[in-house]
Amino acid sequence: MNIKKIVLSLLICFICLWAECVNLFAQGWREVSSDHFIIFYADDEGFAEEAAKKAESYYQKIALELGYPRYSEFWTWEKRVKIYIYPNRESYLKATGQPTWSEGMADYKSKRIISYAWSKGFNESLLPHEMAHLIFRDFVGFRGVVPLWLDEGVAQWSEEQRRPHTKALVRQLYEKDSLISLSDMMKVNINNLKDIDKVYIRSTRTKGGEPGVLFISGDELVATYYLQAVSLVGFLIETYGSDSFADFCRQLRDGKSLEEALRFAYPTHIRALDDLETNWRKYLERNR
Ligand SMILES: [Zn+2]
Repeated sequence: MNIKKIVLSLLICFICLWAECVNLFAQGWREVSSDHFIIFYADDEGFAEEAAKKAESYYQKIALELGYPRYSEFWTWEKRVKIYIYPNRESYLKATGQPTWSEGMADYKSKRIISYAWSKGFNESLLPHEMAHLIFRDFVGFRGVVPLWLDEGVAQWSEEQRRPHTKALVRQLYEKDSLISLSDMMKVNINNLKDIDKVYIRSTRTKGGEPGVLFISGDELVATYYLQAVSLVGFLIETYGSDSFADFCRQLRDGKSLEEALRFAYPTHIRALDDLETNWRKYLERNR
């Protein structure tokens, strides 16, 4: 698969952490409600009802997988999450002022998910992805420093139907010794890549454990970053279970650094970022 196609197939979303980033114009919204959601839609009632049904089932599933027990009361009544579904791409882009590649966004502060009736991927991909962003943030809060890869990894891991595909792509990168090192994952500011056509120099590790150097284009860097993000989260949950993952998130919530949180939740396996990298690579090796 060529790299441009991979970038296009990834759900790269905009997450709004701090302020009201979007003022939605009043637009003759109609609404459908469920226990934890209010869906605002323009004309397609069937689409909105389906979205409400799917959202309810993802709600339970995502919380369970991330190991968040007693989560079910979080989004009831006035705390319900609002999902705005614009009728088409143009109206969505116009209302939100998002860049043209944007398919949807999550707004933490006002607990909104905003997208459009995206017939192909809305229910399978966009909805669980944005919901996972909100659920994760409810849990870790805003106090600690959470790296973007973890946020995006959790969100992508919730796109369950895409897991076999993303796993296959990460395996290919592993085979070609084209994964970027985790210390570089921690440093790169993927939202701020100025020049997508430039060649970037990143550090890597070979299958044999040797340090190496990667020459990588901007879009390859974006694709690799997102794929590694979901792979790392998948590794932690599949290898050590959801309860330990929740412990790890709890430590981040309480203000621990990433390494401290890892050390606390995985004391016998991960003492430092380097151990995370080594054990994750073993997992990739096992699943070849
Ligand atoms: Zn996202």
